[in-house]
Amino acid sequence: MRSRVYINPLILAIISFLWIPGVSAAQPLKIFHIDVEQGDATLFVSPNNKTLLVDSGKNGHGARINSILQELQIDTIDVFVNTHYHEDHYGGVDELVRDFNIHIRRTYDRGDKDFISDSKRNQASFQDYYEFVGHRATHLTRGMSIPFDEEIDVTCIASGGVVLGEVDPVPAVYENDMSLALLLQFREFKYFIAGDIGVTTEDKIAHRDIVTSVDVYQANHHGSHTSSSWLLLEDLRPTVVVISNGNHAGYMHPRATTLNKFKMLDPQPAVFQTNKYYQGRLGANTADEFIADLESVDQDGTIEVAVDNETTIITVRYRDQEMHFPVKRAGEKSPLKIESLLPNPIGPDRQLELVTIKNTSDDTIPLSGWFLRDRSGKVWTLSLEQHIEPHSTLKFIRNGMAMSLNNDGDEIILINPSNEVVDRFQYSGSTEGEIIFAN
Ligand SMILES: [Zn+2]
Repeated sequence: MRSRVYINPLILAIISFLWIPGVSAAQPLKIFHIDVEQGDATLFVSPNNKTLLVDSGKNGHGARINSILQELQIDTIDVFVNTHYHEDHYGGVDELVRDFNIHIRRTYDRGDKDFISDSKRNQASFQDYYEFVGHRATHLTRGMSIPFDEEIDVTCIASGGVVLGEVDPVPAVYENDMSLALLLQFREFKYFIAGDIGVTTEDKIAHRDIVTSVDVYQANHHGSHTSSSWLLLEDLRPTVVVISNGNHAGYMHPRATTLNKFKMLDPQPAVFQTNKYYQGRLGANTADEFIADLESVDQDGTIEVAVDNETTIITVRYRDQEMHFPVKRAGEKSPLKIESLLPNPIGPDRQLELVTIKNTSDDTIPLSGWFLRDRSGKVWTLSLEQHIEPHSTLKFIRNGMAMSLNNDGDEIILINPSNEVVDRFQYSGSTEGEIIFAN
Protein backbone atom coordinates (compact mmCIF):
# COMPACT_ATOMS: atom_id res chain seq x y z
CA MET A 1 0.00 0.00 0.00
CA ARG A 2 1.40 3.36 -0.95
CA SER A 3 0.94 6.20 1.45
CA ARG A 4 0.82 9.76 0.17
CA VAL A 5 2.72 12.44 2.00
CA TYR A 6 0.17 15.11 1.27
CA ILE A 7 -2.22 15.97 4.01
CA ASN A 8 -5.66 15.52 2.52
CA PRO A 9 -7.53 18.77 1.85
CA LEU A 10 -9.96 18.33 4.70
CA ILE A 11 -7.24 17.75 7.28
CA LEU A 12 -5.30 20.58 5.69
CA ALA A 13 -8.23 22.91 6.18
CA ILE A 14 -8.46 21.92 9.84
CA ILE A 15 -4.73 22.36 10.36
CA SER A 16 -4.82 25.76 8.68
CA PHE A 17 -7.74 26.75 10.84
CA LEU A 18 -6.03 25.58 14.01
CA TRP A 19 -2.60 26.77 13.14
CA ILE A 20 -2.60 30.08 11.40
CA PRO A 21 -4.44 32.01 14.12
CA GLY A 22 -2.38 30.26 16.80
CA VAL A 23 1.08 30.96 15.37
CA SER A 24 3.15 32.85 17.90
CA ALA A 25 5.13 35.97 17.21
CA ALA A 26 8.20 33.84 16.49
CA GLN A 27 9.09 34.08 12.82
CA PRO A 28 9.31 31.06 10.53
CA LEU A 29 12.45 29.99 8.69
CA LYS A 30 11.89 31.05 5.08
CA ILE A 31 13.68 29.53 2.10
CA PHE A 32 13.32 31.15 -1.32
CA HIS A 33 14.22 29.09 -4.38
CA ILE A 34 14.61 32.13 -6.58
CA ASP A 35 13.59 31.79 -10.22
CA VAL A 36 16.91 32.16 -12.04
CA GLU A 37 15.90 29.83 -14.90
CA GLN A 38 18.70 27.26 -15.53
CA GLY A 39 20.68 28.02 -12.34
CA ASP A 40 20.47 28.05 -8.56
CA ALA A 41 19.93 30.86 -6.05
CA THR A 42 18.51 29.78 -2.70
CA LEU A 43 17.95 32.38 0.00
CA PHE A 44 17.45 31.35 3.63
CA VAL A 45 16.03 33.91 6.05
CA SER A 46 16.14 32.74 9.66
CA PRO A 47 13.61 33.52 12.40
CA ASN A 48 16.17 36.01 13.71
CA ASN A 49 16.37 37.69 10.28
CA LYS A 50 19.79 36.30 9.47
CA THR A 51 20.41 35.64 5.78
CA LEU A 52 22.21 32.88 3.93
CA LEU A 53 22.36 32.88 0.13
CA VAL A 54 23.50 29.65 -1.52
CA ASP A 55 24.51 30.41 -5.13
CA SER A 56 23.45 33.42 -7.17
CA GLY A 57 22.19 32.33 -10.58
CA LYS A 58 23.68 33.40 -13.88
CA ASN A 59 25.08 36.70 -15.08
CA GLY A 60 22.22 39.18 -15.20
CA HIS A 61 20.16 37.42 -12.56
CA GLY A 62 21.46 39.52 -9.65
CA ALA A 63 18.42 41.74 -10.30
CA ARG A 64 16.05 38.84 -9.66
CA ILE A 65 17.72 38.04 -6.34
CA ASN A 66 17.70 41.74 -5.49
CA SER A 67 13.97 42.03 -6.12
CA ILE A 68 13.31 39.29 -3.56
CA LEU A 69 15.69 41.01 -1.12
CA GLN A 70 13.85 44.33 -1.64
CA GLU A 71 10.49 42.68 -0.96
CA LEU A 72 11.93 41.39 2.30
CA GLN A 73 13.66 44.73 3.04
CA ILE A 74 17.02 43.03 3.27
CA ASP A 75 20.21 44.88 2.31
CA THR A 76 22.77 42.53 3.88
CA ILE A 77 23.59 38.92 3.16
CA ASP A 78 25.22 37.50 6.28
CA VAL A 79 26.65 34.48 4.49
CA PHE A 80 27.04 33.78 0.79
CA VAL A 81 28.01 30.26 -0.30
CA ASN A 82 29.14 29.47 -3.83
CA THR A 83 28.73 25.72 -4.23
CA HIS A 84 31.09 25.40 -7.23
CA TYR A 85 32.74 27.28 -10.06
CA HIS A 86 30.04 27.24 -12.71
CA GLU A 87 28.53 30.48 -13.89
CA ASP A 88 24.92 29.46 -13.19
CA HIS A 89 25.91 29.33 -9.50
CA TYR A 90 27.97 32.53 -9.05
CA GLY A 91 26.96 34.72 -12.01
CA GLY A 92 24.74 37.21 -10.20
CA VAL A 93 26.67 37.86 -7.00
CA ASP A 94 28.89 40.67 -8.32
CA GLU A 95 25.74 42.47 -9.54
CA LEU A 96 24.24 42.28 -6.06
CA VAL A 97 27.30 44.02 -4.64
CA ARG A 98 28.05 46.47 -7.46
CA ASP A 99 24.63 47.38 -8.86
CA PHE A 100 22.35 46.97 -5.87
CA ASN A 101 24.60 47.85 -2.92
CA ILE A 102 23.95 44.56 -1.14
CA HIS A 103 26.50 44.06 1.61
CA ILE A 104 27.89 40.52 1.84
CA ARG A 105 29.50 39.81 5.19
CA ARG A 106 31.11 36.42 4.68
CA THR A 107 31.63 34.18 1.67
CA TYR A 108 32.42 30.47 1.49
CA ASP A 109 33.38 28.43 -1.54
CA ARG A 110 35.05 25.14 -2.34
CA GLY A 111 38.55 26.66 -2.30
CA ASP A 112 41.28 25.08 -4.38
CA LYS A 113 41.50 28.14 -6.63
CA ASP A 114 45.16 27.34 -7.32
CA PHE A 115 44.07 24.23 -9.15
CA ILE A 116 41.36 25.56 -11.46
CA SER A 117 42.02 25.73 -15.18
CA ASP A 118 43.37 28.82 -16.92
CA SER A 119 40.23 29.02 -19.04
CA LYS A 120 38.14 29.25 -15.87
CA ARG A 121 40.51 31.74 -14.28
CA ASN A 122 40.34 33.94 -17.37
CA GLN A 123 36.58 33.77 -17.72
CA ALA A 124 35.08 37.25 -17.19
CA SER A 125 32.25 36.01 -14.97
CA PHE A 126 34.67 34.09 -12.74
CA GLN A 127 36.88 37.17 -12.48
CA ASP A 128 33.81 39.17 -11.42
CA TYR A 129 33.05 36.56 -8.80
CA TYR A 130 36.64 36.61 -7.60
CA GLU A 131 36.90 40.40 -7.52
CA PHE A 132 33.68 41.06 -5.61
CA VAL A 133 33.57 38.17 -3.12
CA GLY A 134 35.66 35.16 -4.15
CA HIS A 135 39.06 36.60 -3.18
CA ARG A 136 37.98 36.76 0.47
CA ALA A 137 36.04 33.48 0.52
CA THR A 138 36.70 30.93 3.24
CA HIS A 139 37.51 27.48 1.90
CA LEU A 140 34.66 25.35 3.24
CA THR A 141 35.64 21.74 3.92
CA ARG A 142 33.67 18.72 5.09
CA GLY A 143 32.63 18.84 8.72
CA MET A 144 32.86 22.64 9.02
CA SER A 145 29.74 24.44 10.06
CA ILE A 146 28.62 27.82 8.78
CA PRO A 147 27.82 30.49 11.37
CA PHE A 148 24.42 31.47 9.97
CA ASP A 149 22.04 31.58 12.93
CA GLU A 150 22.58 30.22 16.43
CA GLU A 151 19.35 28.22 16.21
CA ILE A 152 20.24 26.62 12.87
CA ASP A 153 23.06 24.19 12.13
CA VAL A 154 24.53 24.29 8.65
CA THR A 155 27.10 21.55 8.20
CA CYS A 156 29.29 20.91 5.20
CA ILE A 157 28.82 17.28 4.15
CA ALA A 158 31.02 17.31 1.05
CA SER A 159 33.55 19.63 -0.55
CA GLY A 160 35.66 18.96 -3.62
CA GLY A 161 34.10 15.50 -3.79
CA VAL A 162 35.45 14.53 -0.35
CA VAL A 163 32.69 13.60 2.07
CA LEU A 164 32.32 13.50 5.81
CA GLY A 165 33.81 10.34 7.28
CA GLU A 166 35.88 9.45 4.20
CA VAL A 167 39.07 7.94 5.61
CA ASP A 168 41.31 8.12 2.55
CA PRO A 169 39.94 11.19 0.78
CA VAL A 170 39.55 10.89 -2.98
CA PRO A 171 38.75 14.26 -4.57
CA ALA A 172 36.20 14.43 -7.37
CA VAL A 173 37.24 14.60 -11.01
CA TYR A 174 34.47 16.88 -12.31
CA GLU A 175 33.54 20.37 -11.20
CA ASN A 176 29.90 19.46 -10.56
CA ASP A 177 30.88 16.62 -8.25
CA MET A 178 33.10 19.02 -6.29
CA SER A 179 30.11 21.14 -5.22
CA LEU A 180 29.67 21.96 -1.57
CA ALA A 181 26.93 19.82 0.00
CA LEU A 182 25.15 21.33 3.00
CA LEU A 183 22.79 19.89 5.57
CA LEU A 184 20.70 22.54 7.31
CA GLN A 185 18.92 21.60 10.53
CA PHE A 186 16.43 23.79 12.36
CA ARG A 187 15.11 21.88 15.38
CA GLU A 188 13.29 18.88 13.80
CA PHE A 189 13.51 20.23 10.25
CA LYS A 190 16.21 18.96 7.86
CA TYR A 191 17.06 20.42 4.45
CA PHE A 192 19.71 19.14 2.02
CA ILE A 193 21.28 21.29 -0.71
CA ALA A 194 24.35 20.25 -2.69
CA GLY A 195 24.78 22.32 -5.86
CA ASP A 196 25.40 20.08 -8.83
CA ILE A 197 26.92 16.98 -7.19
CA GLY A 198 26.42 13.81 -9.20
CA VAL A 199 26.27 10.10 -8.54
CA THR A 200 29.92 9.69 -7.47
CA THR A 201 29.77 12.14 -4.57
CA GLU A 202 26.13 11.29 -3.84
CA ASP A 203 26.88 7.61 -3.41
CA LYS A 204 29.83 8.34 -1.16
CA ILE A 205 27.43 10.26 1.09
CA ALA A 206 24.82 7.49 0.84
CA HIS A 207 27.27 4.70 1.67
CA ARG A 208 28.05 6.42 4.94
CA ASP A 209 24.38 7.18 5.74
CA ILE A 210 25.40 10.73 6.56
CA VAL A 211 22.18 12.45 5.48
CA THR A 212 19.01 10.51 6.17
CA SER A 213 15.32 11.28 6.41
CA VAL A 214 15.26 14.93 5.37
CA ASP A 215 12.16 17.06 5.02
CA VAL A 216 13.20 19.05 1.95
CA TYR A 217 15.72 18.21 -0.77
CA GLN A 218 16.75 20.77 -3.38
CA ALA A 219 17.31 18.39 -6.28
CA ASN A 220 20.99 18.17 -7.15
CA HIS A 221 22.05 19.58 -10.53
CA HIS A 222 18.62 20.98 -11.45
CA GLY A 223 17.05 17.50 -11.65
CA SER A 224 19.68 16.10 -14.01
CA HIS A 225 19.83 12.38 -14.85
CA THR A 226 23.43 12.35 -13.59
CA SER A 227 22.28 13.19 -10.06
CA SER A 228 19.73 12.08 -7.44
CA SER A 229 21.10 8.53 -7.31
CA TRP A 230 18.75 5.90 -6.00
CA LEU A 231 21.06 5.17 -3.05
CA LEU A 232 21.01 8.82 -2.01
CA LEU A 233 17.24 9.13 -2.48
CA GLU A 234 16.65 6.06 -0.31
CA ASP A 235 18.64 7.79 2.42
CA LEU A 236 17.07 11.22 2.00
CA ARG A 237 13.44 10.06 1.67
CA PRO A 238 12.38 13.71 1.32
CA THR A 239 8.83 14.90 1.88
CA VAL A 240 9.32 17.83 -0.50
CA VAL A 241 11.67 18.12 -3.51
CA VAL A 242 12.34 21.50 -5.12
CA ILE A 243 13.93 21.57 -8.58
CA SER A 244 15.53 24.85 -9.65
CA ASN A 245 15.45 24.55 -13.43
CA GLY A 246 14.97 26.51 -16.63
CA ASN A 247 13.44 25.74 -20.00
CA HIS A 248 16.84 24.91 -21.51
CA ALA A 249 16.96 22.77 -24.66
CA GLY A 250 20.58 21.73 -24.11
CA TYR A 251 20.34 20.52 -20.53
CA MET A 252 16.75 19.23 -20.64
CA HIS A 253 16.17 19.66 -16.88
CA PRO A 254 14.52 18.02 -15.12
CA ARG A 255 15.05 14.66 -16.76
CA ALA A 256 12.18 12.21 -17.03
CA THR A 257 14.34 9.48 -15.46
CA THR A 258 14.93 11.62 -12.38
CA LEU A 259 11.26 12.47 -11.97
CA ASN A 260 10.47 8.75 -12.28
CA LYS A 261 12.91 7.97 -9.47
CA PHE A 262 11.11 10.45 -7.21
CA LYS A 263 7.84 8.68 -8.06
CA MET A 264 9.30 5.32 -7.02
CA LEU A 265 10.03 6.52 -3.49
CA ASP A 266 7.62 5.35 -0.83
CA PRO A 267 6.20 7.55 0.50
CA GLN A 268 6.26 9.57 -2.70
CA PRO A 269 7.56 13.12 -2.23
CA ALA A 270 5.80 16.22 -3.57
CA VAL A 271 8.04 17.50 -6.38
CA PHE A 272 8.09 21.20 -7.32
CA GLN A 273 9.78 22.98 -10.23
CA THR A 274 10.59 26.66 -10.55
CA ASN A 275 9.96 26.56 -14.33
CA LYS A 276 8.11 24.41 -16.83
CA TYR A 277 10.22 22.61 -19.41
CA TYR A 278 8.97 22.80 -23.04
CA GLN A 279 11.83 21.45 -25.17
CA GLY A 280 10.80 17.81 -25.48
CA ARG A 281 12.92 14.66 -25.75
CA LEU A 282 14.58 13.63 -22.46
CA GLY A 283 13.26 16.40 -20.25
CA ALA A 284 9.91 16.23 -18.48
CA ASN A 285 7.75 17.97 -15.92
CA THR A 286 6.03 17.39 -12.64
CA ALA A 287 2.28 18.17 -12.73
CA ASP A 288 1.43 21.78 -13.68
CA GLU A 289 -0.02 22.53 -10.27
CA PHE A 290 3.46 21.93 -8.79
CA ILE A 291 5.26 24.25 -11.23
CA ALA A 292 5.73 27.86 -10.17
CA ASP A 293 6.33 29.48 -13.58
CA LEU A 294 4.36 27.87 -16.38
CA GLU A 295 5.60 30.35 -19.02
CA SER A 296 9.25 29.94 -18.03
CA VAL A 297 10.28 33.32 -19.37
CA ASP A 298 9.82 35.80 -16.56
CA GLN A 299 10.91 35.75 -12.93
CA ASP A 300 7.71 34.74 -11.17
CA GLY A 301 8.76 31.13 -10.62
CA THR A 302 10.20 31.59 -7.14
CA ILE A 303 9.21 28.86 -4.68
CA GLU A 304 9.10 29.75 -0.99
CA VAL A 305 9.36 27.03 1.62
CA ALA A 306 8.53 28.22 5.14
CA VAL A 307 8.89 26.27 8.37
CA ASP A 308 7.13 27.49 11.49
CA ASN A 309 9.18 28.09 14.62
CA GLU A 310 7.92 24.91 16.28
CA THR A 311 9.05 23.04 13.12
CA THR A 312 5.72 21.30 12.74
CA ILE A 313 4.44 22.38 9.32
CA ILE A 314 6.22 23.08 6.04
CA THR A 315 4.42 25.60 3.85
CA VAL A 316 5.25 25.75 0.13
CA ARG A 317 4.15 28.93 -1.70
CA TYR A 318 4.39 30.03 -5.34
CA ARG A 319 2.12 32.07 -7.64
CA ASP A 320 -1.38 31.57 -6.14
CA GLN A 321 -0.62 28.18 -4.59
CA GLU A 322 -0.02 27.25 -0.98
CA MET A 323 0.51 23.68 0.23
CA HIS A 324 1.28 22.25 3.64
CA PHE A 325 3.29 19.23 4.70
CA PRO A 326 4.16 17.86 8.13
CA VAL A 327 7.76 18.04 9.35
CA LYS A 328 8.91 14.50 10.11
CA ARG A 329 8.50 13.55 13.72
CA ALA A 330 11.44 12.85 15.99
CA GLY A 331 10.25 9.26 16.35
CA GLU A 332 11.39 8.63 12.81
CA LYS A 333 14.92 9.51 13.77
CA SER A 334 15.52 6.12 15.21
CA PRO A 335 17.64 5.58 18.33
CA LEU A 336 18.44 2.03 17.14
CA LYS A 337 20.46 1.06 14.07
CA ILE A 338 21.69 -2.19 12.61
CA GLU A 339 25.45 -2.10 13.23
CA SER A 340 26.55 -5.37 11.67
CA LEU A 341 25.43 -8.77 10.35
CA LEU A 342 26.99 -12.22 10.24
CA PRO A 343 25.08 -14.03 7.45
CA ASN A 344 27.48 -16.93 7.07
CA PRO A 345 28.72 -18.14 10.47
CA ILE A 346 31.05 -21.06 10.95
CA GLY A 347 28.50 -23.68 11.93
CA PRO A 348 24.74 -23.96 11.35
CA ASP A 349 23.26 -20.74 9.90
CA ARG A 350 19.84 -21.36 11.42
CA GLN A 351 21.33 -21.20 14.91
CA LEU A 352 24.38 -18.99 14.68
CA GLU A 353 23.56 -16.10 12.34
CA LEU A 354 24.14 -12.89 14.23
CA VAL A 355 22.78 -9.33 14.14
CA THR A 356 24.28 -6.49 16.16
CA ILE A 357 22.01 -3.58 17.05
CA LYS A 358 23.35 -0.26 18.29
CA ASN A 359 21.57 2.23 20.51
CA THR A 360 22.87 5.66 19.44
CA SER A 361 20.72 7.60 21.91
CA ASP A 362 21.14 8.73 25.52
CA ASP A 363 18.17 6.62 26.63
CA THR A 364 17.64 3.00 27.58
CA ILE A 365 15.37 1.59 24.86
CA PRO A 366 12.91 -1.22 25.68
CA LEU A 367 13.00 -3.81 22.91
CA SER A 368 9.39 -4.88 23.06
CA GLY A 369 7.84 -4.40 19.61
CA TRP A 370 11.11 -4.04 17.69
CA PHE A 371 11.85 -6.55 14.92
CA LEU A 372 13.85 -7.22 11.77
CA ARG A 373 12.40 -8.24 8.41
CA ASP A 374 14.14 -9.58 5.30
CA ARG A 375 13.25 -9.26 1.60
CA SER A 376 11.08 -12.36 1.74
CA GLY A 377 9.02 -10.82 4.57
CA LYS A 378 10.12 -13.20 7.33
CA VAL A 379 10.76 -11.64 10.73
CA TRP A 380 13.19 -11.86 13.60
CA THR A 381 11.96 -10.34 16.86
CA LEU A 382 14.38 -8.55 19.15
CA SER A 383 12.23 -8.65 22.28
CA LEU A 384 13.91 -11.75 23.73
CA GLU A 385 16.18 -9.14 25.27
CA GLN A 386 14.43 -6.65 27.54
CA HIS A 387 16.22 -3.44 26.67
CA ILE A 388 19.38 -1.92 25.26
CA GLU A 389 21.54 0.49 27.24
CA PRO A 390 22.39 4.00 25.97
CA HIS A 391 25.29 4.13 23.47
CA SER A 392 25.83 0.41 23.56
CA THR A 393 25.39 -2.57 21.27
CA LEU A 394 23.59 -5.88 21.70
CA LYS A 395 24.17 -9.07 19.75
CA PHE A 396 21.18 -11.16 18.72
CA ILE A 397 21.81 -14.81 17.82
CA ARG A 398 19.28 -16.28 15.41
CA ASN A 399 18.56 -19.36 17.46
CA GLY A 400 15.92 -20.72 15.07
CA MET A 401 14.20 -17.44 14.11
CA ALA A 402 12.32 -17.66 10.80
CA MET A 403 14.10 -14.75 9.15
CA SER A 404 17.47 -15.71 7.69
CA LEU A 405 20.43 -13.62 6.60
CA ASN A 406 20.70 -14.87 3.03
CA ASN A 407 24.32 -15.73 2.22
CA ASP A 408 23.96 -14.37 -1.31
CA GLY A 409 22.85 -10.93 -0.17
CA ASP A 410 19.68 -9.48 1.25
CA GLU A 411 18.11 -6.34 2.63
CA ILE A 412 17.37 -6.40 6.32
CA ILE A 413 15.10 -3.70 7.67
CA LEU A 414 14.65 -2.63 11.27
CA ILE A 415 11.09 -1.87 12.35
CA ASN A 416 10.08 0.03 15.47
CA PRO A 417 7.03 -0.61 17.70
CA SER A 418 4.98 1.85 15.59
CA ASN A 419 5.62 -0.38 12.56
CA GLU A 420 7.86 2.21 10.88
CA VAL A 421 10.94 1.18 8.92
CA VAL A 422 13.74 3.01 10.72
CA ASP A 423 16.88 1.44 9.25
CA ARG A 424 17.89 -0.57 6.20
CA PHE A 425 20.96 -2.76 5.81
CA GLN A 426 21.82 -4.07 2.35
CA TYR A 427 24.62 -6.46 1.50
CA SER A 428 25.43 -8.32 -1.67
CA GLY A 429 27.17 -11.49 -0.52
CA SER A 430 29.07 -13.06 2.36
CA THR A 431 32.20 -14.95 3.32
CA GLU A 432 32.15 -17.65 5.96
CA GLY A 433 32.86 -16.22 9.38
CA GLU A 434 32.94 -12.58 8.21
CA ILE A 435 30.92 -9.88 9.94
CA ILE A 436 29.54 -7.19 7.60
CA PHE A 437 29.41 -3.71 9.10
CA ALA A 438 27.15 -0.82 8.09
CA ASN A 439 29.16 1.94 6.45
ZN1 LIG B 1 24.22 24.23 -12.27
